[in-house]
Amino acid sequence: MLKKVLYFIWLVLFCIATFFSLKNANFNSFIDIIENRTFDLRQNILVNSNSKTHNKDIAIIAIDEATYEYILDKYGEWPLPRDVYVKIIDYLQTQNPQIIAFDLMFVKSFKSAPEADEALINSFKKYKNIYTAMNLDNQDKDLREPPILPRTLAVSIENYSDIDFSSLTFTNCRSILEGILNSTDNVGMINVSRAEDGILRKMPLFVKYQENFYSELGLKVAIANKNLNSTDKIDDKNFKIDHKGNLYLGNKKIFLDKDGSAILNWYGGTQTYDYIPMYKLIKVVNGEAKNAGYDFKNKILYFGTTASALFDIKTTPTGRTVPGVEVQATFVNNILDNNFITKADKTFTILTGIILALLIGYFVLGISSAFTASLASVSIYLIYLLISYFAMKHFNIWLEVIYPLILSMTAFISAFIVKYLIKSRDFEQQYKLATTDGLTELYNHRYFQEQMAMLVENSKRYGTEFSLIILDIDFFKKFNDTFGHQAGDTVLRQVAQTLKKNVRATDIVCRYGGEEMSIILPNTGKDEAFTTAEKICQRIASNKVKLSHDKESQVTISLGVSTYPHDGSTPSELISSADKRLYLAKENGRNQVGLEK
Ligand code: GH3
Ligand code: MG
Ligand code: MG
Repeated sequence: MLKKVLYFIWLVLFCIATFFSLKNANFNSFIDIIENRTFDLRQNILVNSNSKTHNKDIAIIAIDEATYEYILDKYGEWPLPRDVYVKIIDYLQTQNPQIIAFDLMFVKSFKSAPEADEALINSFKKYKNIYTAMNLDNQDKDLREPPILPRTLAVSIENYSDIDFSSLTFTNCRSILEGILNSTDNVGMINVSRAEDGILRKMPLFVKYQENFYSELGLKVAIANKNLNSTDKIDDKNFKIDHKGNLYLGNKKIFLDKDGSAILNWYGGTQTYDYIPMYKLIKVVNGEAKNAGYDFKNKILYFGTTASALFDIKTTPTGRTVPGVEVQATFVNNILDNNFITKADKTFTILTGIILALLIGYFVLGISSAFTASLASVSIYLIYLLISYFAMKHFNIWLEVIYPLILSMTAFISAFIVKYLIKSRDFEQQYKLATTDGLTELYNHRYFQEQMAMLVENSKRYGTEFSLIILDIDFFKKFNDTFGHQAGDTVLRQVAQTLKKNVRATDIVCRYGGEEMSIILPNTGKDEAFTTAEKICQRIASNKVKLSHDKESQVTISLGVSTYPHDGSTPSELISSADKRLYLAKENGRNQVGLEK
C-alpha cells in the first residue's frame, strides 16, 4: 500500500517536472542543440557505412581549382566572360542533357560586356531546360534598391501546417540580370539555412519576399525532371503543405520542419557525385579538345564553384565540408529518391519519453537489486537508441533521443530516491518492531539488555555512574482475576505512560517481562535514582485507572533501585541487586521503594 502511494507521488512529481521543462524555451533550445549533434552522429555512421547511394542522374560541372587557374590564365580575373557560358550551353545541348542548372548568379556587373549578357539572355529564351539562381537577403535599401521580381516567378502556398515562414522572409534580393528574369521562370532561390552551430542540415523550399513566395532552384529542377513528372504533371507554381508539414510532389514527400526547411539526408562516404571540371568544356568550345570525356546524355547537370578561392563551402552533418553546389545536388537527389528526413512530431517524442520513463520507474522500483535495475534501465534506453538508428536508416525518420534521455534519467534518479525512501522507512519500522514491546510501546527486554551492557561499558570508560529501577505491579494476579486480562492490559499501558511522563528524555523505560518494568537512568547517582523511584511510586498510587466509563480502579507498584558501580559492575549484578530490593519492598508491605535495613 505504502509502495503504491509512493509510486503515485513519484509519478505526479515526474509529470510536473516534465510539464515545466517542456514549457521552458531555453531548455528546449538547449535540447535541440544536443539533439542536432545526435542527428549528425547518425548521419555520419550511415554515410560512412555507404548504406545510401546517391542518384546517378545528377552530375556536377565544377569550377574547381584547375578550372579557376585555367580561366585566370586565359581570360583573366574571375568572373568568366558570359559568352563562354553561352558557348558551353550550346555545346551541351548537342549532348542531350536533361537539365542544365547554374548554382551561379548572373548579376548586373560592370565587368560583363553588354553583348555577352545579351547572348546569355538569349540562351535562356532559346532553351527551356536551363536554370539559374537568385539569392535573397536583408541588405539595407541604402546599399541596394530592392529589385522587383516578375510576378511569374512567384508561387502560391496553401499552408495547413503550423510552419512559420518568418525566418525565411527577406527584404532585399541580389540584382539578377533583368533580361534573364523577364525571359524565363527558371530562376530559383538558393538560400540555405544554417543552424546556430554553423552546420547546414536543412534547406528552405520557399522564401518570402515582397509578400510573395519564391521557390528553391533545386525544387524547380526536380519538378522539371522527366522521371518525377512522368506519371502526373506536377504543378510548379501552386503548392500545398498538409497539417503535418508534408509537401507532396506526385508520390514524393518532402517533410518541412517548423521553420519551413526540409531536413537533408546526406550521401557520401567513399562515393560522391560525378565531378567534371568545367575547363574541359571550355577546351571543347575553344576547339582545344574534341570532347569533355563524359556522357552528358539525360543528366541533370549542376554548375557550381568548388575552388576554395570562390568561397562556397558548407559544413554538413557528416563532418564533410562540401561546395554549395553539392548541397543543391543533395537536395535534388533527396526529392528524386524520396529521401528527405521526417522528424517525429513532438507529441510522439514526449510519449516515447514517458513510456521509457515509466518502464524505467517500474524496473527501479520493482527490481530489488540496484545493479539489475540499473542494467535494465540502461538497456531499455539503448534499445531505443538502436531503434532510432534503424528508423533513420530504413525509414528516414528522425526519432529524437535527447528528450527521452532526459525523461529516462529523471525517472531513473527519482525512482531510486523513492525506492530508498521506502527502504529507509521499512528499516525504521523493522528497527522499531525489533526493539519495542507491542502492548506498552516501551522498549523490550532485548533492547534493555543491550543498553545495560552498553552503559556498563561507557560508565567504566568515562568513570560515570548510572542507575537502574526495576518495578513490579502489586497483586496483579488478583487484579486480573477480578477485572479480567483486558483490564490488566489497560493498567499495563497506563503504568507505562506514567513512567515515561515522570522520567527524563534520556532515561530508557523498558518492559522487563510480564508486569515488571525497568528504567535505566544514565548519569544518575544512587540518591537521585531513589528520589525518582519514590516519585514514580507515588504517582502510580495516586493515579486512577479508568477501566470503562463507569469503572475505575487503582494499582500500586513496588520498586527496587541499584546503581553502578556501587551495587555491581555487570548488568546481571545490577539487575539482581535491584531485584533483591524490589523483593524487600514487597516483603515490607508493597507500594514502596525497597531499602536494606
Ligand atoms: P505481587 O504483588 O507479589 O507481585 O503479586 P502478583 O499477583 O502481581 O504476583 P506476580 O508478580 O507473580 O504476578 C504476575 C501476574 O501478572 C501474572 C499474570 O496474570 C499477570 N500478567 C503478566 N503479564 C501480563 C500481561 O501482559 N497482561 C495481563 N493482563 N496480565 C499479565
Ligand atoms: Mg511479577
Ligand atoms: Mg506483581
